[in-house]
Amino acid sequence: MPEIEDVLSDLAAEMAARPDRGEVATYIPQLGKVDPRKFGIAVATVDGRIITAGDAEEPFSIQSVSKVFTLTLALGKVGDALWKRVGREPSGNSFNSIVQLEHERGIPRNPFINAGAIVVSDVLLAGHQPREAIGEILRFVQFLTDDDSVYIDQGVAASERETGFRNFALANYMRSFGNLHHPAELTLGVYFHHCAIAMSCRQLALAGRFLACGGRNPATGHSVISSERARRINALMLTCGHYDGSGDFAFHVGIPGKSGVGGGILGIIPGVASVAVWSPGLNANGNSHLGSVAMEKLARAMNWSIFSP
Ligand code: GLU
Repeated sequence: MPEIEDVLSDLAAEMAARPDRGEVATYIPQLGKVDPRKFGIAVATVDGRIITAGDAEEPFSIQSVSKVFTLTLALGKVGDALWKRVGREPSGNSFNSIVQLEHERGIPRNPFINAGAIVVSDVLLAGHQPREAIGEILRFVQFLTDDDSVYIDQGVAASERETGFRNFALANYMRSFGNLHHPAELTLGVYFHHCAIAMSCRQLALAGRFLACGGRNPATGHSVISSERARRINALMLTCGHYDGSGDFAFHVGIPGKSGVGGGILGIIPGVASVAVWSPGLNANGNSHLGSVAMEKLARAMNWSIFSP
């Protein structure tokens, strides 16, 4: 088996030289300003090692990768009652699609498409002011990372609010079915801010490591969530973590993963490691193009597909 260090540095060099980078998301204007040549990767192993290459220390907008952390918190808050308001099936539609909500009476397909994550934000808002709910999410991510420097990029959050017409449509549509318990602008305040969390690949790999460790944080020995819940979140990441590209990611990479339109992907190899990769250019499904390529090459080199014997 090759050394992770060697695989990561080879990948960073190879990705830096590739001309095919995909398109940086521009529908959130702030994201359109990011340099498409950036590439970072970090692996956090269950035995406490952290290996990085490329621009792994530079914070980027984690966007929908944050939905893994909000789902974890919401399950902690309301447990399985969450599944009355959000489904667990792959959507087969784009990340911001509204079509399926009409057929399924305002119940989003899964917690990782925008509509589902907005319901999760609504759950986290219950009993709080938006700023308290946002603070709770940020502190949870800082706790998982063991790093208080993780922050919310207020410019990105404001940019999302100014242009989030579809997210307002999704939220109001779900409210018409009674599946949003707060006014759309309050729930979306929580949603836009958690999408605007900025982290480096190193921080993101550390934050996700509890999912590779049966719910435990190996740095502290503390249990974040039960092993059963970690297993279930991993299952949702595998089946729903890449929108309508989830099947393709499972096919090519073969690990639970969650992508964001900032170009980040968090991947989980249960019992082994968590991986964060960042390359801002996206493929047609809104997932990082070179990030997906790098994940595939890494999983193959290390034999990390969960479907390998
Ligand atoms: N905040 C983004 C949106 O709502 C998240 C999308 C994503 O990362 O896939 O459009």
